[in-house]
Amino acid sequence: MLRNLTRSLSRTPIYLPSSTLPRRLSIRKMASAAQDFNKMLYTPLAEIDPEVQNIIDKETWRQFTGLELIASENLTSLAVMEANGSILTNKYSEGLPGARYYGGNEYIDELENLCKARALKAFNLDPAKWGVNVQPYSGSTANFAALTALIQPQDRLMGLGLPDGGHLTHGYYTAKKKMTASSIYFQSFPYAIHPETHLIDYAALSSQAKIFKPRLIICGASAYPRDWDYAELKKISEREGAWLLCDMAHTSGLIAAQELDSPFDHCDIVTTTTHKTLRGPRAGLIFFRKDLENAKDLEKRVNEAVFPACQGGPHNQTIAAIATALLQVADPAFKQYAKQVIANARTLGQALVDHGYKLQTGGSDNHLVLWDLRPIGLTGSKVEKLCDLMGITINKNAVSGDASAQVPGGIRLGTSALTSRGMAESDIKVVADFLHRAVQLSLVLQKEAGSKMLKDFVRVATTPEEGKVGYKQVKELRDEVRTFATKWPLPGIDTSNLKKPTGLHED
Ligand SMILES: *Cc1c(COP(=O)(O)O)cnc(C)c1O
Repeated sequence: MLRNLTRSLSRTPIYLPSSTLPRRLSIRKMASAAQDFNKMLYTPLAEIDPEVQNIIDKETWRQFTGLELIASENLTSLAVMEANGSILTNKYSEGLPGARYYGGNEYIDELENLCKARALKAFNLDPAKWGVNVQPYSGSTANFAALTALIQPQDRLMGLGLPDGGHLTHGYYTAKKKMTASSIYFQSFPYAIHPETHLIDYAALSSQAKIFKPRLIICGASAYPRDWDYAELKKISEREGAWLLCDMAHTSGLIAAQELDSPFDHCDIVTTTTHKTLRGPRAGLIFFRKDLENAKDLEKRVNEAVFPACQGGPHNQTIAAIATALLQVADPAFKQYAKQVIANARTLGQALVDHGYKLQTGGSDNHLVLWDLRPIGLTGSKVEKLCDLMGITINKNAVSGDASAQVPGGIRLGTSALTSRGMAESDIKVVADFLHRAVQLSLVLQKEAGSKMLKDFVRVATTPEEGKVGYKQVKELRDEVRTFATKWPLPGIDTSNLKKPTGLHED
């Protein structure tokens, strides 16, 4: 039995504290005392479900051997993963602390109150002026709950257009279709970035708002490399009598670290995800003002919008993980992390500019850069595909002036995850060099493909063909990336025990 046990342990290279071994032994004892139909409750994952375990192992391997540059992603901590995988998942606690629909919530109440206090502290907020709801399952649900709290069905809202860096949940629609709940249940109208500066066009937004008369203006974005002028937005929304909501999902970690301007100075309500720069579990938060003369009931409206309007029971294991992440955010070390994220983004941008490439807005104030590939005749899809083959994860992204939304002309790169692996400026220069070589190789492959079709591009990149050199270079570059990436730690994982799992796609 012990032999079985150690084998399953060695196949589970994730966050296992040394105290786990005796715990697992006693769990074995409990299993043997259980009825047959309950024995499964004590069997470790690797043993009862090697299929799922293998998928986790492969994904762990992918994260370890690759370079993560998706701007919305990050690598959370050991402690957050422990909390997120805890027994708190068992508990129902619809309602709020002190006012639940079920019994047995004394510790869950303690947890949610702790999480709320930490959320306010992490953003330096006065509990007399701001409150927070920590129950949203994710950023999108937080946003829909915020809309539900603030405006009526079919009321008008404005958000940054999706092709200009806005998020789906900020009112996205196409000519043929209302795409998200924010445009299905509300009348939405997008504002834009300036066609030359590529900064938010506040003047145009102001005149559009005069005509459209929104009840709500949403600021914040998913692909905007610069900071926001919240004071200007406040002026516009006040003039129109509209709410001002900031969705700081991408930048909340940098805002908490006071490395970017604070939306709390001017906005009525602020939403965020907790898994991007904030580096916590996948979830959402809604902050609301408590001191608005004309909206004393905002707290009640937000809380009722989350539950019962949009959600049922909160995910208490996630709330525990948010609380732990927020404890880390309040640590002075997190400010150093945020500073490094920004320094790395600037270094990455500068390195690409030094290679002669074009960035939208020319650089970055935050964790991301938008790389315009059109001047060199490539599409975002091809570079994304090639980088994927090399173990560099990025995403294609619209850039200003794209002829078609279906063919994005750029890619979005973020430095949050690489900074969590410990990289600083000199390491980011190595990464920038990989990206430069990937783009140059994409040009070779495009030529060898003999067409501009993505499928031909993928064919020459993945299959050896007579007289074509691109395929071999893809393999070489992939090996170099892997050698570089595996020098770095992976948060929460003991990589010294990591073994290459079976069934990897690359084999
Ligand atoms: C990521 C993101 C969201 C959505 O978050 P999910 O957790 O994926 O639902 C909302 N708003 C913005 C601006 C985002 O970048």
